[in-house]
Amino acid sequence: MRYISTRGAAPTLAFDEVLLAGLARDGGLYVPETWPTFTHDEIRAMRGLSYADLAIKVMTPFLGGRVTEAEFAPLVRDAYAGFDHAAVTPLVQLDQSTWVMELFHGPTLAFKDVALQLLGRLFDTVLAKRNERVTIVGATSGDTGSAAIEACRDREAIDIFILHPKGRTSEVQRRQMTTVLSSNVHNIALEGSFDDCQDLVKAMFNDTAFRDEQNLSAVNSINWARIMAQIVYYFAAAVQLGSPNRPVSFAVPTGNFGNVYAAYGARAMGLPIERLVVGTNSNDILARFFATGTMTTAGVTPTISPSMDIQISSNFERLLFDLYDRDGKALTECMGRFRAGGSFAVTPEQLGRARLLFNGHKVDEDLTSATMASTRLSAGGLMIDPHTAVGLAAARAEQPHLDPSVPLVALACAHPAKFPDAVERATGVRPPLPPRLADLYEREERVIVLPNDLKAVQDFVRSRARRTASAALGAA
Ligand SMILES: *Cc1c(COP(=O)(O)O)cnc(C)c1O
Repeated sequence: MRYISTRGAAPTLAFDEVLLAGLARDGGLYVPETWPTFTHDEIRAMRGLSYADLAIKVMTPFLGGRVTEAEFAPLVRDAYAGFDHAAVTPLVQLDQSTWVMELFHGPTLAFKDVALQLLGRLFDTVLAKRNERVTIVGATSGDTGSAAIEACRDREAIDIFILHPKGRTSEVQRRQMTTVLSSNVHNIALEGSFDDCQDLVKAMFNDTAFRDEQNLSAVNSINWARIMAQIVYYFAAAVQLGSPNRPVSFAVPTGNFGNVYAAYGARAMGLPIERLVVGTNSNDILARFFATGTMTTAGVTPTISPSMDIQISSNFERLLFDLYDRDGKALTECMGRFRAGGSFAVTPEQLGRARLLFNGHKVDEDLTSATMASTRLSAGGLMIDPHTAVGLAAARAEQPHLDPSVPLVALACAHPAKFPDAVERATGVRPPLPPRLADLYEREERVIVLPNDLKAVQDFVRSRARRTASAALGAA
């Protein structure tokens, strides 16, 4: 199993190299050279497996032997043992044809835990084999930071530094980060905005000497291993609902297109997925693309589903690569046009192919709130968060065009208690934190306040990061 870049001009890599590289050197994203596939008999044999056993089965072909199954299996079991539901990603039935898949039973109550809990452990294993250490730096407006911190805490080969804008995250979000007291976790409250945080992280990566000295790395959403880990729950849901004998459709609230691209991957591996419904909030660049074949950036509007407030969907390039028949050169030109002019269009033939599987719906703020309210009032009384509501509203918009005998699964990407204000405004009920976080407000915090100054942040990272093993060897 080898991985190729969507831009066609970076070296072909093995799994462990792709894991550590993140972005390809030509600016592209890594994808498998060919998708591993499962026959219908093999998919049938997945019925009744525990989530961890299913995960091992689905992901092992991607490792290409660079992490052995014997090394991999305990990582997977350990990663998902920390979820507070035995099924890890349980299904809840809403009506005859509609289910919700709850992806928020991990430590930070959002679906990113499903991939990141495994990723932290994979980093540790791969780095130990290479006798290396990494320093992970990242910026967060609130959500991704806590998932990354929980993934990396207490990992032997990782030191993690997360910058958040001081006073500009919610208290729950801040506490989910700053109450992790592990010695390898460093929270920086920056005297500045989220954009300042992002600029400083970029500047650290652009400082080649610093990057090499610290062996800087990231766990951002373009990392291939995150996609790999997300493919698993599509198999889990489909097999429970009767696949491969019965096809299944999914509705996915989407920002960077990572989650729904994982569904596309599951289909490429042989899972009978009939339709993928993409839900966007008012930042609707993807819904506009699937309607028109043109992708045009617009300014970002803040919404009550902030994890989807994006201007550009970075993972979308992986789908485009296939729409361009894996022609890296043509895709590089297309992405160049997009960067220069903020817009590009695919041909009607390419759009037609995309629309065979995908459709998109924009869900505005009123409909998002109305969907939280109506779901709360419906038979099961389910509380959903605003991101989940975007996906479910998109599902409802698509359903008149779908075969009702095909189950439609809407993904619940965050626990409602993660966005209590928006949920309370829509439903009148404030969702309580689940037991694992019930004492969040009493926990001790550890955070350092730093000025918006590159040197100050770099000095802090230098003073706290353990030296990389390879640097230490080099000096010896
Ligand atoms: C990250 C996130 C999303 C968007 O997922 P993508 O993979 O970027 O499309 C949606 N909902 C929640 C709660 C998230 O944290």
